[in-house]
Amino acid sequence: MTKIIVPIKVENLDRLREQAQAALDGKADMLELRLDYWQNPETLWHNIGEIMRIGKSYNLKVLVTCRAGWEGGLYSGSEETRMSILKAAANAGANYIDLELKAAQKHLPDFAPAYTILSFHDFDGMPDDPQEIVDTISTVCPTAIAKIACKASSITETFRILDLLKANPGIIAIAMGYEGIITRLTAGKFGGRLTFAALNNADATAPGQITLEQMTEMYHVHKCSPQTKLFGVIGSPISHSRSPEIHNRAFDHCGFDGMYLPLLIGPDEFSIFMDNISSRTWLDFSGFSVTIPHKHNALEYIKAKCGHIDPAAEIIGAVNTIIIGEDGKLSGYNTDYYGALKAIIDGLARNSRTLPGTKAAIVGSGGVARAIVTALVDNKVEVTIYNRTISRAKELAETCGCKYAGLEKLPDMQASLLINCTSLGMEPDIESCPVDPEIIKPDMVVFDTVYVPLETKLLKYAHASGAVCISGLDMFINQAVKQFELFTGKEAPHETMSNTMGK
Ligand code: NAP
Repeated sequence: MTKIIVPIKVENLDRLREQAQAALDGKADMLELRLDYWQNPETLWHNIGEIMRIGKSYNLKVLVTCRAGWEGGLYSGSEETRMSILKAAANAGANYIDLELKAAQKHLPDFAPAYTILSFHDFDGMPDDPQEIVDTISTVCPTAIAKIACKASSITETFRILDLLKANPGIIAIAMGYEGIITRLTAGKFGGRLTFAALNNADATAPGQITLEQMTEMYHVHKCSPQTKLFGVIGSPISHSRSPEIHNRAFDHCGFDGMYLPLLIGPDEFSIFMDNISSRTWLDFSGFSVTIPHKHNALEYIKAKCGHIDPAAEIIGAVNTIIIGEDGKLSGYNTDYYGALKAIIDGLARNSRTLPGTKAAIVGSGGVARAIVTALVDNKVEVTIYNRTISRAKELAETCGCKYAGLEKLPDMQASLLINCTSLGMEPDIESCPVDPEIIKPDMVVFDTVYVPLETKLLKYAHASGAVCISGLDMFINQAVKQFELFTGKEAPHETMSNTMGK
C-alpha cells in the first residue's frame, strides 16, 4: 500500500515537534525530515542526535533529506559535512535516506541499515524519457529506491509519469504542478511507493503538493488500490471546482471503490487527453464531469468516436458527463438539464405550481441558459430569453422555439419564474444583480444559477420581497446526483451530497 509521507521543515526543535505531531494526528504514515531547513546550518551537525530522537518518537517511519541548493533545497554547506550529517541520521535510526542522483554519481556513501532513495528533480520541466533516469539510478545503485519528481506543464506530460510508474512499480514518481496532482493521488493504484502531502498549503515543499487533510479526508488515498476506478472533472481552470468534494464523499458513503480527480485540461488539450485515456485502458478511467471550456468539445469528440449522445445533450449542444463503458464506448449526457429541472420543479411546488403553462424569463444565453431553456420548453413552459447580446438570444430562441428580447425589456416581463443564467453576481462580482430589483414580485419564484456566493444579490432582493428562492447550489447538487448514478449505476446518497455542500 502506498504510504503518505509528510515533509517536515526542521527549522528548529520546537517546529519539528509541532509539525510531527500534526502529521501524526492527520494520519500520515511517514515523516520526511527536511534538515536543509534548519535555521542555523553551523549548528545542524551538533543537533542531529536530538532531531532524530524527536523524529523517531512518533512511531512513524522516518525519511531524512538534506537537499542541496543545486537540487532545489536550502542546504548551502560543504558536501562532506552534508554526507556526514546523512550518515549520522542513518546511524541514529532513519529508515530511509534521500540522496540526489547527481551526488551519488560522484560519491555514494553506505547508509545501511537505512534504505537509500536516489532522487532526481526537475522543477522546470519533464524529461522526454524519464525511464532513462530510472535506468541510470539502477546502474548507480541497484538496491536504491528510485525517486523522480519533475514539473509537468500539461496533462500530456503527466502521462509520462503514469507510464513510468506502470513500468516500474515500487518507485516514487511524481509529476509536480497542478497538472500532475493525479500522480500524487493515484500512487496507490499504480504501485507508487510513497506520496508526499503538505501539512498545509504554506508548508508545501514542492509545486502541486496537496494537503494531508485533502489526501485523507477528501480523496481517501489510503483506500486507493489497483482495483479503484477513476473519475474526474475536466476543465480549465479547475482548482475552484467542488465536484471532487461531493463525488468522493458520495463514493465513500456508498462504499464504492472509486476516486474522483481534478483534471486541469488546457483549452486545446481535450482531444489529446481523451486519446491518451483511450489508449491506456489500464488507467481504469470510467467517467468524467466536463466543465468550461470543454462541454462542446466533449460532444464533438464523442460524436467523432461514434459514441452515444443523450438526446437532451444533443439539443443543448453540450456534454457535461462522459461515461466510458466496459468496451471503451463513450456516452455523453447533460445532467445540468436534469439538475436544473428538478430544482425548478421543487421551487414551483413551494408555491403550489407546476411547470406546464408557467411563464419564465431567462436572463442569459450561454451554456447554462441553453440547458435550462431546453428543459423548460420540453416541459411546456412559456419561455422568453433576455440577453445582453441580442443575436445570441435570437439564436437560442429560434433553436428552442421560444421568444427573446434585449435586457432593456426586462421591466415589461410577465413571468412568474425568473432565472439568472449570467455570471452576474458571482464572486468576485458579488454586488452585481442581473435585473432591477423592482421587477421582483412576492408571488414569483426566483432561481439564480450562480452559487458562489450561496445567497447572491439577486436572491437577497428576492428573499426580501417574499418570493420563493432557488439557489444555484440545488441545481449543482441535483446534477451531481444524476452524474453519480450514471458513474456507478447506484442510487445516489442525496442527503450526504447535500450535507457535503453545506446545505
Ligand atoms: P457562458 O456560456 O459564458 O454565458 C454567460 C452569459 O452571461 C451570457 O449570456 C452573457 O451574455 C452573460 N453575461 C456575462 N457577463 C455579463 C454582463 N456583464 N452583463 C450582462 N450579461 C452578461 O456561461 P455559462 O456556462 O452559461 O454559465 C453562466 C453561469 O451559470 C456561471 O457564471 C455559473 O455561475 C452558473 N453555473 C451554475 C451551475 C450550477 O450547477 N448551478 C453550473 C454551471 C454554471 P452575452 O451573450 O452578451 O455575452
